[in-house]
Amino acid sequence: MVRFFDHLPAVEPSRRVGFAGNVIERRSEHRDEATVAAALGNADARFYLFRGDKVLRKSPTEPLFSAREAGDLGAAGGQPILLGWREGVPHIAALVSEATALAPSILQSDLRSLASEGTLAGEHIGALAQARSLLNWHGRHGFCSMCGTASVMALGGYRRDCPNCGAQHFPRTDPVVIMLATDGERALLGRQPRFQPGVFSCLAGFLEPGETIEDAVRRETQEESGIRIGRVRYHASQPWPFPTSLMIGCFAEAVSTDIRRDEEELEACRWFPREEVAAMLAGTHPDGLRTPPPMAIANRLIAAWAKLSPP
Ligand SMILES: [Zn+2]
Repeated sequence: MVRFFDHLPAVEPSRRVGFAGNVIERRSEHRDEATVAAALGNADARFYLFRGDKVLRKSPTEPLFSAREAGDLGAAGGQPILLGWREGVPHIAALVSEATALAPSILQSDLRSLASEGTLAGEHIGALAQARSLLNWHGRHGFCSMCGTASVMALGGYRRDCPNCGAQHFPRTDPVVIMLATDGERALLGRQPRFQPGVFSCLAGFLEPGETIEDAVRRETQEESGIRIGRVRYHASQPWPFPTSLMIGCFAEAVSTDIRRDEEELEACRWFPREEVAAMLAGTHPDGLRTPPPMAIANRLIAAWAKLSPP
């Protein structure tokens, strides 16, 4: 039985991506209203606070606020979300009103920038991803999709209930396939107009209803680049809280080589030899071309293929 897993790398590849460090115990099997009410009312609870899409921090390395501090900012009186527990202490996510005046010492940052900077511990970045996805879902799903009545948060944020028709609604996660297609010694990379200058990355797209991961990889690669894909191998996944995606990273075997680029999606798409990819990862490319940063699963796929990091 053990041998069945022997080919896997010592460190799970998904552990190496940004947003993967969440250590909060969700205890979903105990998520009932009494437990949630006790946790939300616990004076020792710790709070992750957002103002709009901005993460609040007390210092560059401290994003957790006490219940009293959160209360002073008006956050505890809103609709807090119970993320779970750490060492028995409830950890909660809450919104601070845009109208609330903040002390100048409180830092406000975009979560994507925080994840790239690396000043905040990975365990916080992961918990903030959980928080941001849930807060965003509640912000966009205030009404029952069956009957249109205003719905009510339940189970500490893991469900919304309709008081009119009784429908229950659950937070969503949207799967996205992201793939490094290779013909062996070359990798297929593309560039979207919104990318930072010089950045080339893996192709990606939303999985559609009724599709396998492998079929989505083949369809998206062909649609965006015209390249046909044979075999597909899963590599790693990454929570991507912008707003509620899960990136599913795969390697894809190219069985054709002529590129027909989707000109709306991509402003450039070509094959990159392994040595050129290595220079892009190392930041030594003569034309300044580069990959996304290491926190992005695209970087991990590219690096694993180029054998510049453990698989
Ligand atoms: Zn309803």
